[in-house]
Amino acid sequence: MGQPMKTELDLSRRPDAPALPASLAGLSLPALKQAMLDFGVAETQTGMRAKQLRRWLHHIGTREFADMTDLSKELRAELTHAFTLDRPDITEHKVSVDGTQKWLVRFAPGVEGESVYIPAVSKTGALCVSSQVGCTLNCTFCHTGTQKLVRNLTAQEIVSQVMIARDGLGEWPASAEGRQLTNIVFMGMGEPLYNLDNVAEAIDTLSDGEGMCIGRRRITVSTAGIAPKIPELGARTGAMLAISLHAVRDDLRDELVPINRKYDLQTLFEAIRAYPGLNNSKRVTFEYVMLKGINDSPAEAHDLVKLLKGVPAKINLIPFNPWPNSPYECSDWNVIEAFAAIVNRAGYASPIRTPRGRDIFAACGQLRSESIKKSAAEKRREALAEQAAQS
Ligand code: SF4
Repeated sequence: MGQPMKTELDLSRRPDAPALPASLAGLSLPALKQAMLDFGVAETQTGMRAKQLRRWLHHIGTREFADMTDLSKELRAELTHAFTLDRPDITEHKVSVDGTQKWLVRFAPGVEGESVYIPAVSKTGALCVSSQVGCTLNCTFCHTGTQKLVRNLTAQEIVSQVMIARDGLGEWPASAEGRQLTNIVFMGMGEPLYNLDNVAEAIDTLSDGEGMCIGRRRITVSTAGIAPKIPELGARTGAMLAISLHAVRDDLRDELVPINRKYDLQTLFEAIRAYPGLNNSKRVTFEYVMLKGINDSPAEAHDLVKLLKGVPAKINLIPFNPWPNSPYECSDWNVIEAFAAIVNRAGYASPIRTPRGRDIFAACGQLRSESIKKSAAEKRREALAEQAAQS
């Protein structure tokens, strides 16, 4: 018999330690290390414990401390008392007939965000994650733009959206062969470059080869055009860049994407050209939503080609997905095809995105709106029931 294991915890050591996170799931490696230190793990051990936890949480996807067989029984028991491995609650989960899945995730009371899994035709699939709840930018074609900003999501909350999708798809361990969730796109609710610190920390966790194993080249961050932050995004994350473009003239873009009034097309394209590492295998994706009679003429397709000159680019043409009372209609299919053909002839890939998940409100922000409406209706019903009970 060896000596009984000496405890590695000294919970009396840091009376001033900050509040511990409730759940460890989704925390970055530095945050796991800090949580262990604040919890009372000896400083010399925190790095090793954080790495062990990373493997269990983000590679294996475990939901129980009891599974963590390389941690002592004593430590596992102590961790169980102090932390959970919970993901945020799922308020709603919808599956479309075309395989698209949408989760409405409740991060905290009144803080709900959406993520959407979009299976591709080939053996890849992307999860579109939110970086903020609501948005400040008010793009006129975007449903989220009608919702005021609630707050930035933390890095942990961003990563937890991927964990929820991986739970749902049954894709643990992270390195599983033939997995369906291969790519991450920051194209859900919010402007990621207004939450760059948390987005960068989340990308570190998602791309960690000992953890979630999603390569940086498979992570795309989409911005409406916060020009000064664009080169910084590339330098800090190495992620792929996408631009929510939607118009090729400043007067129209001022209207569709109002941040253009602050950072016009010239400023935006200077920032894009400064994005580190651009070449033909690391191209910028330009998102262009097709709005009937607004931005879909052949002249605009030719202007788009001129604007893109010298930028390794791919253009995603997105048929507009209308929501109730939206001010726009989707361009006719033949108009979209004619637009694509002009861009294509100029040498740019310009796939037309297949509309997905229309039966489950897959337009960004729609599920959250439905939930807000529903809870308002529920509150009204409760108030009426209360009144009836009192009368
Ligand atoms: S398109 Fe993006 S940046 Fe614009 S309002 Fe919608 S969520 Fe915000």
